[in-house]
This record gives sequence, structure tokens and C-alpha cells, in this order.
Amino acid sequence: MKSWIDSANGPECHFPVQNLPFGVAKTTDGVKHCVCAIGDKVIDLAMLEANGFFDPEITTPVFNQPALNDFMQLGPHVWQAVRTSLTQLLIENGNPALKDNNSLREQAIVSMSDVEMKLPFKVAEYTDFYAGRQHATNVGTMFRGAENALPPNWLHIPIGYNGRASTVVVSGTPVRRPLGQTKAPDADAPSFGPCKRLDIELEMGAVVGLSSTMGEPLTVAEADEMIFGYVLLNDWSARDIQAWEYQPLGPFQAKAFATSISPWIVTKAALEEFRVSTPDRDKTLLPYLQEPGPMSYNIELEVYMQSGSAKKATRISKTNYNNLYYSAAQQLAHHASSGCKMNTGDLLGSGTISGPDKTQFGSLLEISWDGKEPFTLESGEARSFIEDGDTLTLTGWAQGDGYRIGFGNCEGTILPAIKASM
Ligand code: MN
Repeated sequence: MKSWIDSANGPECHFPVQNLPFGVAKTTDGVKHCVCAIGDKVIDLAMLEANGFFDPEITTPVFNQPALNDFMQLGPHVWQAVRTSLTQLLIENGNPALKDNNSLREQAIVSMSDVEMKLPFKVAEYTDFYAGRQHATNVGTMFRGAENALPPNWLHIPIGYNGRASTVVVSGTPVRRPLGQTKAPDADAPSFGPCKRLDIELEMGAVVGLSSTMGEPLTVAEADEMIFGYVLLNDWSARDIQAWEYQPLGPFQAKAFATSISPWIVTKAALEEFRVSTPDRDKTLLPYLQEPGPMSYNIELEVYMQSGSAKKATRISKTNYNNLYYSAAQQLAHHASSGCKMNTGDLLGSGTISGPDKTQFGSLLEISWDGKEPFTLESGEARSFIEDGDTLTLTGWAQGDGYRIGFGNCEGTILPAIKASM
């Protein structure tokens, strides 16, 4: 399937006509609208909506605003109808109504380089899971020894914590090194100051499109239906703050200062043919967590790191989303299992995605093995954790036959800490 927009047809392009991810862009005239990506262009969906392209499915405009929440709330039938309309407008030999309309084309199609991508949706609440078995095993081995690496509940329950929506930011937003309370193992008392062990977590975020009802649990199949799409997610982590604060209620300030996501929500529809099963189960899951079909995806993931003075980024990890033990649908079903209401715009972090090999680890904590095995960037600089001025970039794609369903980048540069006065 080709598009009449040539830049969409390259084999490594992240945004071919098969993808059509949704985002929010600020154009040069300062207006923020919902858009979709195709090749090196963005399509202004508010413009198409105003011209009646999504009639009759959308009766009240949803795209002339800086968030996709209202569109997501309309549900899978409308998501699919809009996707079908866009596909027809953008494929070769499809509906010529955009291709052959010069003035509309000039207004509705903008170069990606001329827009600023914003947070694609209003994040209602953010929950982060711990569903990567290799990551949990690595971290458990470091802190509790290989014998007790996985906590006793891990093979039965998708472990998570409630994070902060207020500090979820779009790719490209600089991240200030956090301050916090830490205690060195040999110190008598804790101190307050800049984090010394700043880390990333390579994750993907599931974006909840539909809400659920308080008091009513969801099946895994219902949960899957409610997911609108997926983004890349970097769960920035302050390991020294986390080590001192986390018992008994889990991470708090160590994770609250920033979470970065990629600007494009890749829809579940675009990922459909890349569905794969989650890994074999060591323990049979309780019925409410059992999957009726393949609920994970085959998505290649990479992490790059670049110092402030280096000319080129170094790839420090290459792994796959299919390493996750629990799918996003299972996480969402578990989240609602007590009767917890889930909302349009909820963001579920997958947990750090590490593969079995050292080259596949999704955090610096694992790559440098608790800081004991520093690694070297191509610029010759050594790292265990993140230094000020370093840029960390996540990227990923599902590989089709001659095309990619890409997620673009999720990037952030670390700024020096604010001077602590406490
Ligand atoms: Mn995390």
C-alpha cells in the first residue's frame, strides 16, 4: 500500500500510510490542533473535519483543540471510521478529495519540520507497572540476590504503583535533575541534594481511550477494546532517592519529577498484524488475568545516549516489546479488578523492557550493573548513570514487509539540578 505523499513510501519511514498515528501540533500560526503523521508531513485533522470528511461519524468537532481526549472518548467505531477515511484520502488511487484540492492541500498538509509537537492528550492519571521479567530479575538479583530475585507475587500479579500525571511531558522537553533525600550505606544520617544516580527506564505507554465504571471489573478482552494506542515512554528514575524511600510503599519522589512520552499515539489498529502472545507462563494465572488471544506486540526498541559534547549518539540497548510478561490489556484488567474506575486519557507504563542479553537491558542500572560496570560511549566517555547535558532517546517500530509502523522518538536532555538550599 503506497501513498501519493512520496516521503511516506521509504522502507524505513516511521509514518507510512499503514500507520497514521495521532498527535497534537502547534503550527506556525500558533494554533494547536489534532494531527496525524504521514511521511515527513502532518495532516491537520481540524481542517479535514471542518470540510466534512469525517461525517457522519463525528457530529461535534473534536480535532480543533490541543488534546485527543474527546476523539478517544468516541470509541472504537469512530476511531476505525476516521482511520478508514484517512487511509482512503492518503493512498494512491484512493479518494481524490484531498489530493486534487489545491487550496485544501495547502492548508491541511504541513511539513513536520514546521510544527512543534505537543503532549498528544491530557493525561488523566499515570500508573506504572513492573511487567518486564528480565528487568525484575536483574534488579532483584542486585538487591536481594539471585535466589530471591523475583518477589513471591510477581508471577501472579502485574505489580504497579500510582505515578504522577502532572509531570508527564512530551519528547524534547528538557528534564531537570531531581533533588531528593538520600542516604549513603555508610552514612549515619540522610542528606538532601541533587540525585547522583539518575537513570532511564525503557517502557511503552498504553493510552486508555474509553472509561470504565467504578465498582465494575473488566475482562482482559474488554480492557484490550478500551486501549486507543501506544507511545514510547521513558520513566526517568532517581535510583539513590528510590533506594532510601521505597520501602514499604514503593517509589515516590524517585519517579515523580518527570516521565517523557513520544508525541505520536500509534493506534492499536495499526499494530494489529504485529500481535504476538505474551511469554509462556511459569504459574497459571487466575482466570481474570487470562488472555483470550495474543495481546502483546512484536515491536523493536532501541535506546541511544549522547553527551552534551559528543557529535553522535551511541546505541546502548536494543530489545523488543514482546519481552513483557504481562500485556497492557492484562495490566488494565488488573487495574480495574478491585472496582477502580479507569478514565479516558489514563496512561499505563509497561514497566522496563529488558531482554535476556546485556545488550538488551532497558535501564542504566542494569547496563552498568548497579554502577559497578561502567560502559563507554562511542565518544570515549564512560558512564554508569546520566550526567548533566546527556540526551537519552528511545525509538521503536514494528517491522512489516517493506514498511515500518514507527513510533518516532522519545527524547530528553538532562539539565543541571536547581541549587539545593535545604
Ligand atoms: Mn518504570
